Amino acid sequence: MLGTTALGIATESGRLTTRPLIDPFGRAITYLRVSVTDRCDFRCVYCMAEDMTFLPKSEVLSLEEIDRLASAFIRRGTRKLRLTGGEPLVRRGIDDLVKSLGRHLKSGALEELTLTSNGSQMARHAETLFAAGLRRVNISLDTLDAARFARITRWGRLPQVLDGIAAAAAAGLKVKLNTVALAHENAEELVDIMQFAARGGHDLTLIETMPMGEISEDRMDQYLPLSVVRRQLEQRFTLIDLPHRTGGPARYVRVEELGLQLGFITPLTHNFCESCNRVRLTATGQLFMCLGQEDKADLRAVVRQFGNDDKALDAALDEAIARKPKGHDFMIERRGAKPAVSRHMSMTGG
Ligand code: SAM
Ligand code: SF4
Repeated sequence: MLGTTALGIATESGRLTTRPLIDPFGRAITYLRVSVTDRCDFRCVYCMAEDMTFLPKSEVLSLEEIDRLASAFIRRGTRKLRLTGGEPLVRRGIDDLVKSLGRHLKSGALEELTLTSNGSQMARHAETLFAAGLRRVNISLDTLDAARFARITRWGRLPQVLDGIAAAAAAGLKVKLNTVALAHENAEELVDIMQFAARGGHDLTLIETMPMGEISEDRMDQYLPLSVVRRQLEQRFTLIDLPHRTGGPARYVRVEELGLQLGFITPLTHNFCESCNRVRLTATGQLFMCLGQEDKADLRAVVRQFGNDDKALDAALDEAIARKPKGHDFMIERRGAKPAVSRHMSMTGG
């Protein structure tokens, strides 16, 4: 049977491979992150250099190619799909892509479609995202101080992001805030951010800085181990471990006094690889089987060479997942300020 999507893509059902993607260590791949653009309207100090050079458009996957690749993963067992970037909401046509991918929610093939954003453009998109079937978004917020916000993001403005957070919540989206813990910027402010999140009914996840991509700042200088943050929080709050895991590097607690769900993403101090269920697709269609390794598979070449040949794409997915490594090798202390992997987070998608 043939149908068409919001991007005008013809879709087939019934005759294609639906074999799950299982890696050599028995882990089923059920979570895909897709970076829809490497571009961004901010220049966060831990993420990008101020004079970043972005990719020429011809190298970036078209929206149709993204849809085609994401749909192939969904057919092979991906249940959760996260759009990220760069800043996904600066990509022209993003609303059409989200609407198109929303068909997999309606069919039940996809459990969750979600997005990570810096919030700057959220006010314009929140209602469309909700209408397409999104129910949760992650919005990054490293500080509640306008001057510090401008310093960390270089080009961002705090009020615009606060408006974006409010608009997302008003549209019915559950907001999870992401805060990168930075030793000399927001270490003293984390409790304020926790209180802000709790007041708004948002979850909050703290993230350790990861050694990705060459940037102009010294990483060791910014590195704040979340084990230290957690010990400090324990002096003041009751933290109750929550059992739920996402297959990723996050561990969750409930902060009793605030009624807040707080996550810790600690890729440097905690080994989470044994339960890894995820892969990442860059804006240029490179599939990274592990966030912390350089190995990748060129899926753009497959879609551009073989067009609508699903067999070729299936074979490429099988071949890539067969190379998923057992784990990563992030060691900021051992490597000093040198990045463990040379690509930026904005390329792989955080
Ligand atoms: N632009 C969107 C945003 O900022 O949320 C989505 C992409 S961004 C790369 C995704 C997440 O990665 C953000 O929460 C950001 O703070 C985080 N991030 C970026 N570079 C990082 C790094 N070197 N270490 C840890 N987290 C990083
Ligand atoms: Fe842009 Fe997000 Fe990177 Fe900040 S963290 S520069 S908002 S991609």
